[in-house]
Amino acid sequence: MAKSSEISGFYKLTVTDRVKVVKDFAGLSVEEEALLQKPGALPFDVANRMVENVVGVMPVPMGVAMNFIINGNEVIVPMAIEEPSVIAAASNAAKMTRSKGGFKATTTAPIMIGQIQIVGVQDANRARFEILAQKAEVLQHANAQDPVLISLDGGAQDLEVRIIETFQGKMIIAELLVDCRDAMGANAVNTMTEAVAPLLEKISGGRVYLRIISNLAVKRLARAKATFPKETLGGEEVVDGIINAYAFAASDPYRCATHNKGIMNGVTAVVLATGNDTRAIEAGAHAYAARSGHYSPLTAWEKDANGDLVGTLEMPMAVGLVGGATASNPVAKLAVKILGIKTARELAEIIASVGLAQNLAALRALAAEGIQRGHMSLHARNVAISVGAKGDLIDKVSAQMVAEKKVRVDRAKELLEKFSKG
Ligand code: NAD
Repeated sequence: MAKSSEISGFYKLTVTDRVKVVKDFAGLSVEEEALLQKPGALPFDVANRMVENVVGVMPVPMGVAMNFIINGNEVIVPMAIEEPSVIAAASNAAKMTRSKGGFKATTTAPIMIGQIQIVGVQDANRARFEILAQKAEVLQHANAQDPVLISLDGGAQDLEVRIIETFQGKMIIAELLVDCRDAMGANAVNTMTEAVAPLLEKISGGRVYLRIISNLAVKRLARAKATFPKETLGGEEVVDGIINAYAFAASDPYRCATHNKGIMNGVTAVVLATGNDTRAIEAGAHAYAARSGHYSPLTAWEKDANGDLVGTLEMPMAVGLVGGATASNPVAKLAVKILGIKTARELAEIIASVGLAQNLAALRALAAEGIQRGHMSLHARNVAISVGAKGDLIDKVSAQMVAEKKVRVDRAKELLEKFSKG
């Protein structure tokens, strides 16, 4: 019989039985079956309650970035990532700003936006007016959904209403602004948006479709700043190289995507290590980077009066310490303990600092490499001249030495002889 991926009741099977089904389907060996079932730091019974159809656990290395001082505190930062060099680069960058006091980071209040889409309204401006006129009732209804959040001084704090033009006509978008305290907040906010939908339909006379959180968390921002002394970076030329690299990213989206990817190397690794939603952070980051209509860097780099390099980062940071996998994954809990933090805002500040460090490390490597190469060709020209090369032969001999990575007098002599004959 032909293979089918539609297996009735698959989700009801035990993990072991599911593995057997997959083994038969994919022709796995006994060893491969055993590999899938290898217990790790995330027990199967926990994994099985986290997502559906569990057959195993995918291990990702977790390392720690060292040398961080953030808001005056010494911090060791757990990072979960499969890519080599990221953790070492973050540690190096953090070391380079220690003499300047490390990172200064801040956050706004943890406010998330919950959107309610209303369509089919006759008079959009009137409906908007009426919804806003009954704001207090809408907020009260939203807040009745989450007494725990209210007891912690969080909850829905404001309501905004926008009218947007779409190819399906005008729509009213009502937006709940919810203080999520130490939660990422998606479940909390979604519950509130669902709860107020009937009331908004009644007030507006329209029909509600989508009721969901926005990952473009412009009201929940994290910022980090650090100064890197020019001597530590390798001199003024490296500082200029980094600023040039930033200017390139600021003007060119092809470079900027990679610039921001470098930031996300650090950001996502800490988000993952702490059991937070990596997709939510990635979506928020790139949408924020593009909010002006021009996709832009999440960091900015400039020189201070001393000629030292000053970097700043600003991005949405919807991370939590309660809810989602942060509460269920034992390794995530451990990561938070290593960080020594008590609030989601502290976590956001650490992640922003790591993002900034990661960007510095990448830009420095790229800029210094370019400078190094520049130095090499200058040096090669001098070596070529020193062995008597003249005119076109200077370029020919030096280019060949750079290509061979043999910038030496003996090689210059050989090449000069060869090219002079030819
Ligand atoms: P949650 O609902 O599990 O926990 C939040 C709740 O915990 C709050 O509503 C509150 O009642 C309670 N709570 C207890 N102590 C608290 C404290 N100190 N601060 C704040 N709340 C406290 O989780 P959540 O954070 O609402 O939702 C996060 C999950 O939602 C993640 O797993 C995420 O992947 C998922 N999700 C994301 C999206 C999205 O990003 N678009 C959409 C849907 C779901």
